[in-house]
Amino acid sequence: MRLVLLGPPGAGKGTQAFKLSQILAIPQLSTGDMLRAAVSERTAIGRQAAEIMERGELVPDDLVVGLIADRIARSDAVSGFILDGFPRTVTQAESLDDVLGSHQLNCVLELKVDEQHLLDRILGRAMQARENGEAVRADDNQEALSVRLTAYANQTRPLTHYYAAKGLLKTVDASQPMDRVTAALVEAIA
Ligand code: AMP
Repeated sequence: MRLVLLGPPGAGKGTQAFKLSQILAIPQLSTGDMLRAAVSERTAIGRQAAEIMERGELVPDDLVVGLIADRIARSDAVSGFILDGFPRTVTQAESLDDVLGSHQLNCVLELKVDEQHLLDRILGRAMQARENGEAVRADDNQEALSVRLTAYANQTRPLTHYYAAKGLLKTVDASQPMDRVTAALVEAIA
């Protein structure tokens, strides 16, 4: 099963992708996690991406497409994967189609939430993490977050039309409790 999880920052993509990866026994491929690892390891990609990510902007398409193409080629992704945070632009989606060749996506799951509440939700989560002494993402602050939400609205949301036109899009209400969202996603895939 080859799946994409689509949704704005704070919609719960990471959490749901993790749960689905356990239920379906396929890997969760998160470009955000890959890029954060590259930044902390100070690789060439990490050095290019660090400041862009900190500002909340999208890193260049060719850079993430290269990352994901290499990852999809690994043996654990042969029977399927869940893409979390990729694609984020129509150009990335077109490149993904090329990379997948005859093994195209089975389904694109959109997590729909009231975007007006997202800023409060993520800032609240960051504050809680700070209080608990946990690490807070460099882009979980008001300034970067509004850039991330704008990037979603302008560059990523058009993907819903791209995938709807291919008959692949399923939309789930992600403002429900976490387990209900998971159940709705499983039902949408079935
Ligand atoms: P995420 O963890 O998915 O919220 O991603 C964190 C940040 O990594 C984003 O705000 C972007 O700067 C960068 N990023 C992750 N995935 C992509 C992508 N597919 N295209 C461009 N930038 C990305």
